[in-house]
Amino acid sequence: MPYEQTIVLLGPVTEFTVLCQACAQRVVENPSPLVHGTLRRHDDLAWTECPAGHLIRAVRAGRDVHAELTQPLW
Ligand SMILES: [Zn+2]
Repeated sequence: MPYEQTIVLLGPVTEFTVLCQACAQRVVENPSPLVHGTLRRHDDLAWTECPAGHLIRAVRAGRDVHAELTQPLW
């Protein structure tokens, strides 16, 4: 089962750079395991892949989530 890393983006962020944790544990393969990814403004989920092929999932949290995904509290 491939290692899966999830990061959470806040608000209107559409680009991110993360450290691939799977690579960080095996520095020999990728000495600088930074992964750059994008999440379109109205998307809530995106997948990106580090140079070594590890999947990283980006999800959006905060006020920009789609209205239909939230339930009013009152
Ligand atoms: Zn990696």
